[in-house]
Amino acid sequence: MLSQRCVDLGTAPSVIRELFEYGKLRAKEVGADKVFDFSIGNPSVPPPHEVQETLARLLTTVDPLTLHGYTSAQGDLAVREQLAASLSKRFGHEYTASQLYLTVGAAAALCCVFHALTVPGDEYILFAPYFPEYKVFIEGAGARVNILPPQYPDFQIDLNALEAAVNEHTKAVLINSPNNPSGAVYTPETLNALGKLLEDKSRQYGHPIYLISDEPYRELTYDSVTTPWTPDFYRDTIVCYSYSKSLSLPGERIGYVLVGRSVTDSETVYAAVAGAGRTLGYVNAPSLFQRVAATCDGLRADVGVYAENRRLLTEELGKLGYDTAHPPQGTFYYFLPTLEPDDVAFCQQAKALDLLLVPGSGFGAPGYARLSFCVPTDRIRGAIPGFHALAQRYGR
Ligand code: PLP
Repeated sequence: MLSQRCVDLGTAPSVIRELFEYGKLRAKEVGADKVFDFSIGNPSVPPPHEVQETLARLLTTVDPLTLHGYTSAQGDLAVREQLAASLSKRFGHEYTASQLYLTVGAAAALCCVFHALTVPGDEYILFAPYFPEYKVFIEGAGARVNILPPQYPDFQIDLNALEAAVNEHTKAVLINSPNNPSGAVYTPETLNALGKLLEDKSRQYGHPIYLISDEPYRELTYDSVTTPWTPDFYRDTIVCYSYSKSLSLPGERIGYVLVGRSVTDSETVYAAVAGAGRTLGYVNAPSLFQRVAATCDGLRADVGVYAENRRLLTEELGKLGYDTAHPPQGTFYYFLPTLEPDDVAFCQQAKALDLLLVPGSGFGAPGYARLSFCVPTDRIRGAIPGFHALAQRYGR
C-alpha cells in the first residue's frame, strides 16, 4: 500500500504544468514562433548584476568547505544577521537573526509554517483567486482549507465573508499580495481592516489567529504602487518570502520565514518552524544562495521588460475589445476577464489558436484567464493576431 494522496499528486500534473508541457510539444510540431505560451511564471529577465558579482566574490574569497558546507539549520548566523539588518532598515522594525529562518524558497517557508502551527482539526482561510499549491501544502500538513470567493473586480478582501468564516478552528488566514494570479496589491485600508478583524476574532476565541503573508512578488509592482509591509498592520503576522521572482532565482530555492517579536509566543513559534524544517528534512537552505540573498536583499531584477509587456497587453488587448480596465498592480500575471462566462471553454478556444492561457477557475476565480507576461516582448507582439482572431470568435 502506498499513500494514495501522494500517488495522485505525483501522477496528475497541475493544469499549469500540463499546459506548459503541451506548449513544448506543440512548438515541436508547428515551430516555437507559432506557439504563444503564457502558462508559467518563470522569470524572463536575468538576475540583477549584483547577483553574479556576489557569486564571483563568494566563489573566490570564501573557503569552499565553508561555502558548500552545512550551515546552521536555521541559516548561517552571519547571513541572518545581515538579512535582519537589511529588513530592519527597509521596513523600520528591529529584526534580529533569531527571528529569521532561511528556507528552500517560499514553498518550503509555507510548508514549515503550516506544519509548525497545525494541530488536528485546524483550518486555514484563504481568498480566491489563490496559488493552487496552497491547498496541497495545507492539506499535506493535516489541516482543512476554507477558500473564500473572490471579490470582483478589484480582488481585495471581502471582509464580510471573512467575518462570517472565522471560527474556533481557524488557525490562520493566508494572504498573498501582490497576488498570483490577480496582480492585486492589498491596500493599507484593506490590511488595516483585516488586522482589526483578526484582533477582534483572536480576542473572541481566546487564541491568536495568525496572518501568514506569502510575499514572493513583494518588489514586483508597477506605476506608483508599493507593497505595504504586512506586519505593520497586525502583530501576529508571519512573513514567508522568496527571492525566486525578485532576483529571478527560482531554481536556486532560497527564501525565509520571519517571525517578528510581536508575534504571540514568538520564540516558541520560531522553534516550531525550525522543528517543522527538521520533520520535512530540509536540513538547511542552500548555503551559497543564503549568502547571495543576504547581500542582495532589497534589489530586484530589471522589471522594465515586465512593465513594457504589461503596457502592451493593456493597450493592444483593450483595442481588441478585451476588458483591460484593471491591469495588474504587481506580479507578472495579467488576470483577464474572459469573453464568455465559461473560462475553461474560453481557454480551449484560445488554445486552438495556439494561445496558452490558464483558466481562472483553477485559481478559484471563474470568468478570468491568467496570462504570465514574464515572456519576451516579441511573444506578446506575435500573439496579438491570435488575440484578434479569438475576439472575433466572440463577435468583437
Ligand atoms: N507563492 C506564490 C503565490 C507563488 O506564485 C509561488 C511560485 O510561483 C510560490 C509561493 C513558491 O515560490 P518559490 O519558488 O519561492 O517556492
